[in-house]
Formats: sequence, structure tokens, C-alpha cells
Amino acid sequence: MPELLTADRIDEIGALGLKSPDPAAFVAELVSAVDEGRVADPDDTGYALLVAAEILRQAGDLADALALATRAIAEQPDDNAYARAVRGGLLLRLGRSDEGMAELTALRPLLETDPAATYLVDELAESGHADTALEWLTAALDAILERTRTQQHASEDAQDEAAAMIYGLAQLRHDLREEQGLPHDEYDNLADRLSAASTHALDALDDGPATLLFWPQAEFNALLVRWPALVDSYPPTWDEHRAHLERALVDASGLGGGVGLGIVTGSVEGLSAFAGADAIDEETLDEYADSLDDAGITTWPPGRNDACWCGSGTKYKKCCLPRLRA
Ligand SMILES: [Zn+2]
Ligand SMILES: [Zn+2]
Repeated sequence: MPELLTADRIDEIGALGLKSPDPAAFVAELVSAVDEGRVADPDDTGYALLVAAEILRQAGDLADALALATRAIAEQPDDNAYARAVRGGLLLRLGRSDEGMAELTALRPLLETDPAATYLVDELAESGHADTALEWLTAALDAILERTRTQQHASEDAQDEAAAMIYGLAQLRHDLREEQGLPHDEYDNLADRLSAASTHALDALDDGPATLLFWPQAEFNALLVRWPALVDSYPPTWDEHRAHLERALVDASGLGGGVGLGIVTGSVEGLSAFAGADAIDEETLDEYADSLDDAGITTWPPGRNDACWCGSGTKYKKCCLPRLRA
């Protein structure tokens, strides 16, 4: 029976392929799984192709990467914004500027509504269009701030969402401007203020419920083997576990959004020692998470080009930040 590819396995092959000096076999493994209908969750088909495209892109094979990105778009007609952005970026890199810019411009409104849509900015910046990226970020911030000013009666959820987006976009814009050697402007000052506020919130974090407990992949798997009852407290896969954490952190990062911008890392051995003979329930998990504060909180978010907080070894902006399947 040939192997069915889960999302975790796709990520694993992707990480190996990106590191390998000879990535063709990893690309072939992903593409043949798609060809033969061996992707465990059909919703991950486009993702498998995009991971293969990313391996090819990094290896410099832009034309073949483009073909896979184009195929990923066709595979998932209802949910293909990210695939279209990747295609747009590849077209720009291939010198097909008009087509590439048209593809990305069609997605531009997402910057005002979808917190994950910052991949558009990455595609622009990495293909030599940082000026356009900055223009789009400024306009998106203008629009969201204007919206929050005029919509007095927005729900609390909508306000939190807008605040989180302002935080994320201002931070991204700040870092990109810094890379370009540009001086601080008003939005950069806003970004610095928000960032200082988050750090302060993290310092103030003692035993609030917002301490987020993260299980590295091997620990996550061992956790559910050791305490099967915890399947009710966690999603079925590690991939969903880290996606949930990223989502919770984004939600918590809003203006005045309070605490929670940090992660503590659990281990089965540690939890076992902490709980002794007691049964493990969600309350125990919370207490265990609190007890880990002294050992160190990983600050979130990491820099976009820094290693991802989940321990994958991939850059944050290529890993949990895009939350591809969120
Ligand atoms: Zn600054
Ligand atoms: Zn990650």
C-alpha cells in the first residue's frame, strides 16, 4: 500500500527538499503523490504542489516552479489566493512583470481584510519591488485606520481583528523600510510603540491564562500516546496544534489586546514530573504551563527572517506566519 501524504509529511518532505543539494527526488515525491491521488486530505493537494514549487524556486528552477504553482491554482479553485500570489511572484522573477503585477494586484484588497495576506508583500519585496510593497502597506494601513475611525459600532471581535492587523502591517512595513534604509515616519513610530506595548505586556505576564503551551512535534506525538484522554484537548495533528497557537497569538496581539505574546515549551517528561500520579486534564495543563514561565518564555513574534518559533528550522515568514491551511 503506497504511503498517504498527511500535511505533516508534506511539511517534512518540504523541509528536507529545501535543505538538500539534490532536491529533485523530493519534488518528484510530492508531485507523484498528487498525480496518484495519495494526498490524505484532498484540501492539501494544492499545498503539496506549492511546497514542491517552493523547493524548485529555491533551487533556481523558476519555470518548473511556475508550472506547479499554476497547477496548484487549478487544483483548488475556491481557495487559491496564496497559490496565485506565489505564481505572481514567480512571474515577476521571470521578468514577466505585467502578468505578475496583474496577478498580485488582483489580490491586493486582501491586505485590508486577511491577516495572512502579507505573503503578497513578501512576493513583491523578494522580486525587487519593495517600493510597491511599501506603497500597498501604507495604503492598507490608511484604509484600516480609516475604517476603525468611521465604524463606531463594530463588534469587539471586529475591533480586535483590526487592531491585530494594524499591528502586523505596521511591524512589517517598519522592518521593510528599515531594510531599505528609510528613516522613521509616523507609522514606524506607531509600530515601535505597539511593539513596546507588547513587550511590556509580556513582562507583566505572570500566571494569567494566556501563557501558551507549545509541544514540539516529537513531544506532541508522545503526549497523546502517554495520555490518550488529551485527544479532546488538542487537535489531531501537530500541524494543527502549531496553527492554532499562531492564530491565538495573532488574535492576542491586537492594540491593547493584553497579554499572551509568548510561548512556553512543554515536554512529556516535564509534565509527568509536574503532575505526579494525578490525572492530566486541562487545568493541569494550565498549571503546568504557568510553572514553565521561570524556565523561559519564547517571545512572539520572531523576526520574519528568524527561525520559526515552532522549531521547524524554517524562516518564520515561510512557516507559521503564512498559516497556509488556516
Ligand atoms: Zn523602529
Ligand atoms: Zn513554524
